[in-house]
Amino acid sequence: MCHWPAVVVATPAHSGVGDALSYRSERALAPGTLVRVPLGAREVLGIVWRNDDAPPEGLAEGQARDVAQVLDALPPLDAAWRDLVGFAARYYQRALGEVALAALPPPLRELDPSQLARRLKRPARAAPAAVDPDSARALTPEQAAALEALSAADTAPALLFGATGSGKTEVYLQGTARTLAADPSAQALILVPEINLTPQLEARFRARFGDEAVVCLHSGMTPAQRLAAWIAAHTGRARIVLGTRLAVFASLPGLRLVVVDEEHDPSYKSQDGARYSARDLAIYRGKLQNARVLLGSATPSLESWHASEQGRYRRLAMAARIGGGSLPRLRLVDMNHQPKGALIAPPLLAAMGERIARGEQCLVLINRRGYAPVLACHACGWKSGCPHCSAYRVFHKLDRTLRCHHCGFTQRVPRACPDCGNLDIEPVGRGTEQVEEQLAGLLADVKRPDGGPVRVARMDADTTKAKGSLEAQLAALHAGEVDVLVGTQMIAKGHDFRRITLVAAVQPDAALFAADHRAPERLFALLMQAGGRAGRDAAHSGAAELWVQTWNPEHPLFAHLRTHDFAAFASGELAEREAAGMPPFAHQALLRADARTQEAAQAFLNAAAAATQDLPHREAVTLFPAVPLTIQRVANVERAQLLVESPSRAALQRFLAAWQPVLLQCRGLPEARGLIRFAVDVDPLSL
Ligand code: ADP
Ligand code: ZN
Ligand code: ZN
Repeated sequence: MCHWPAVVVATPAHSGVGDALSYRSERALAPGTLVRVPLGAREVLGIVWRNDDAPPEGLAEGQARDVAQVLDALPPLDAAWRDLVGFAARYYQRALGEVALAALPPPLRELDPSQLARRLKRPARAAPAAVDPDSARALTPEQAAALEALSAADTAPALLFGATGSGKTEVYLQGTARTLAADPSAQALILVPEINLTPQLEARFRARFGDEAVVCLHSGMTPAQRLAAWIAAHTGRARIVLGTRLAVFASLPGLRLVVVDEEHDPSYKSQDGARYSARDLAIYRGKLQNARVLLGSATPSLESWHASEQGRYRRLAMAARIGGGSLPRLRLVDMNHQPKGALIAPPLLAAMGERIARGEQCLVLINRRGYAPVLACHACGWKSGCPHCSAYRVFHKLDRTLRCHHCGFTQRVPRACPDCGNLDIEPVGRGTEQVEEQLAGLLADVKRPDGGPVRVARMDADTTKAKGSLEAQLAALHAGEVDVLVGTQMIAKGHDFRRITLVAAVQPDAALFAADHRAPERLFALLMQAGGRAGRDAAHSGAAELWVQTWNPEHPLFAHLRTHDFAAFASGELAEREAAGMPPFAHQALLRADARTQEAAQAFLNAAAAATQDLPHREAVTLFPAVPLTIQRVANVERAQLLVESPSRAALQRFLAAWQPVLLQCRGLPEARGLIRFAVDVDPLSL
């Protein structure tokens, strides 16, 4: 007898290939089984999605192709995993095959059954998760209450609203320990924004649960490492998966707990392919697999905060810092009253000097890397624009280059203005390199307690490119070899620095007036998080300070920052969002188009909008006119987008699904000639 498995294979976005392809098989294959099937002239990896009773109509029995190989050394992917992937594909408007195959580790695509069997040699039984009881701490009352609430009968997602330094990690660790102890096959998934930024977290999980029980999953791993980790999770041998957003798709048959650390972090939202939110999928996955979901943050996303206000999420608050340390005091520097052109205002400089002389450390935050964002000629007005992008190339002084941070185009700095030959071309604005350079000079008179000169270091994407360099720089900081660390937002995240007592944000104002409605939320989070690096050691914390240089000291954001009052800030922002009909009070999607010309990109979008008259729920959605992106051209590609909005998530979803075939048709219109690609971004993070 013959079987008719419907197999999902990797399909390019918008290829128009249906959800699953029909094959023939001698054997019955359980859904979730991995197979290799012929596709055109190639043989590709596929996943059996379901079994049909007969060949699809129109396909004669003899035309069907046979499943080539069955990777049956691997247990089938379970129904929950398939449901998760199916949901993600539908919700984010992508092909099922694209999402499903992208969720598997890449080397799996190449292996034949015997190669795979060799990889599976290791025993597939659950690791014992040897909890080291000595490493578990006595919990503070707030931690204990949060942990109790987490295991209470109420299974709604929990939002752990814990101040920086309140000991959220210990709650994750002990929550995990309880989960694993309750059931020998239970698994926990711990999501973090960027694993490299938090080497301490991995170390703590390994120390507590043993190396065998913990695997990591993130894009920085080699393909072979990723495959091994994925298999360990899929077979249940690994009890804990620690990973970045892609780990939300790990196959975890025993999943009982999902933790999303720093749940507000934008890196949980994928920015290409299926633009999924790992945080949102974690919530869905928790429901599917009956797993607890714990979102943690000192500055939750407004979406999660709103859900906790409504009672959809349970809010578990931990306001106190471990050891009773207080949160840093806000010191606003009104730049209107400072010497003109001062990079670091005199009072801030004096405060830094005092701390360094006492053996304490300072963090200086500036959200631009390089020396200066632009190089300009004051004689003729030339600026260091990128020939391929509508953006300026950034001046990097150390290697004397002009680099485009969008397309990577790099050239040596010209000796003279390329337009008029003027020799004095000058940097405009400031980046991390410049702050590092100038601070060394500004602090030249300050001495460390040992009499030595002040040591200034810099940490940004440029200094941490080489493998291991980030870890080395963090270690130097922890060892006290650095007095002042200058860096981008990466220094604000998650680190548990002990001797930092002063954090300064030197030019945060741009975000106060950005067109993007999420900019204030992100700035508030950044400053709270950055400030949270200070005073974590109670020995110093009485004096911890967060300095902010601003031209707008009256801005309400700073009033809430002063009182560390996230709740008040959030309620103000939410009220504005509600009045403006913005998320989370409305639901959005973007249709984005890349094309050779801006006209073609917009023409495609407008044609797509015009062709929606007969679509379901059309009356429930608003389509806005096509507009160019803020950075409209990148690497010679013109970019435009069109916003779609609806008060109803369900209506928006049905509308978008019905729109897909229309978009495919519009792609072929004459006015859309030059269109390169289009994509739908559901719940976009920036407009
Ligand atoms: P958060 O993630 O909330 O900012 P951490 O989890 O980094 O805070 O905890 C802050 C510090 O307090 C860490 O050094 C941690 O080791 C320590 N800590 C956490 N819980 C306890 C506890 N119950 N007793 C003693 N120290 C603790
Ligand atoms: Zn010039
Ligand atoms: Zn460029």
